[in-house]
Amino acid sequence: MIADTIAAISTPPGRGGVAIVRLSGPGALGAAEKMFSPAGKTPVSSFTPYRMYPGEIDCGSFRDFGLCVYFRAPHSFTGEDVVEFHCHGGTEIARGVLRSAVRCGCRLAERGEYTKRAFLNGKLSLSSAEGLADMINGESEAEVRAGYMLYTERLNGCAVRLQDALKEILAGIDADIDFPEEDIEHTDLAHIREDLRKMCDELGTLLSTYRTGKKVKEGVSVVLAGRPNTGKSSVLNALLGSDKAIVSSVPGTTRDVVEGSIEIGGVRFDLYDTAGIREGAEEVENIGIDRAKKLIDGADLVLFILDASEKMGEEDRAVYASLAGKSRLVVYNKTDLADAGESEVPADIRISAKTGENVQLLRQRMFEICMHGYNADAQFLIEERHFAALSRAKHELDEAVALCGKIPLDLLGVHLRVAWEALGEISGETESERVIDEIFAKFCVGK
Ligand code: GDP
Repeated sequence: MIADTIAAISTPPGRGGVAIVRLSGPGALGAAEKMFSPAGKTPVSSFTPYRMYPGEIDCGSFRDFGLCVYFRAPHSFTGEDVVEFHCHGGTEIARGVLRSAVRCGCRLAERGEYTKRAFLNGKLSLSSAEGLADMINGESEAEVRAGYMLYTERLNGCAVRLQDALKEILAGIDADIDFPEEDIEHTDLAHIREDLRKMCDELGTLLSTYRTGKKVKEGVSVVLAGRPNTGKSSVLNALLGSDKAIVSSVPGTTRDVVEGSIEIGGVRFDLYDTAGIREGAEEVENIGIDRAKKLIDGADLVLFILDASEKMGEEDRAVYASLAGKSRLVVYNKTDLADAGESEVPADIRISAKTGENVQLLRQRMFEICMHGYNADAQFLIEERHFAALSRAKHELDEAVALCGKIPLDLLGVHLRVAWEALGEISGETESERVIDEIFAKFCVGK
């Protein structure tokens, strides 16, 4: 049982219109009684939950005029009594309210402690809490959407449904093991195998979405490769719509990797410019070359940039050869200049970084290649922890399907129980304290 009352500033640091200080725990309303003088007749102890009351907040050495709202347990975010003070959004004002709350018996909240309490009080599952962290930390529309799907328990609903189905099968198996002399057969093996196979299919479909989900969460990495002076930095700038990379007409000036991110179709794409893979260049550039090779290895897509106004040369060929086996898009740049004709490497797209011709089309092509089959409204996995847990569940169920009828019922039951436990990791029922702490550490203070 959690007995103490925590307090934190729940709005981000800095100045703004309002700041919110949140108190959660059995002493929240008591602290509010001491700190808040309502402007109206209703005393704090008689506040109607979820209603905003104006009044004076005592901050010790000064006062602020703000609002107070009470959420009665268990109908609050944490499941405990919660009080929020909405004060004016000055850093010192919010700190004053917080200090006052501490004087009135609260202690400062730890990172993610509100959400952790919500989880421990059964207000949300572990995967839902992770979804909330994904939403808060999300850097793209797609990540926020995927986080919201987790937050609203869509994945957990799936896991719980499969767990329930497994529990039913296990109950039948246990009955047959415990009362073998009874006439009633609880286990119809052909039926069970069919049910388990369907579960495996469902898990397989879900697991296959992780390839896309990982990109949604981590961003799609796109590397621009090509010999110096083909216009990589210019293409990068055109894609970014800014002047982040330094453009120069002296070959080899982009010595380091320049990064920038854009959102295409709501998904974050991280762009990396390379220094050009040149053999025998000076030392500083060699460092860039090593990084370029590493980047290319880890990229989801490589844009191979050629200069449309020049014939393809040895240097171009060398870079092209280094991209073998990579997912790549051949981009002929500088189409505003006189065309030197196509080489042995046909263009996937022809653009001009200078005039902007086809740059939007390039963004679209990048999206189509990297996010093939992506449907923002479909259910997909974005968390590695979920992928690992569901993989384990599927592995056990695959085994169970293969062995069904060939091994004794109790051994079959062992596989099903392990799968059941693995599915429980989505909700967090079977998770260890360490994993739980790690997850809540992803939050900020005040959430
Ligand atoms: P990088 O070495 O591959 O990064 O190439 P840069 O982006 O530094 O460009 C090399 C030169 O080509 C610069 O003088 C750019 O202004 C020029 N350039 C880049 N893109 C275009 C283009 O689409 N059209 C024309 N006419 N010039 C371009």
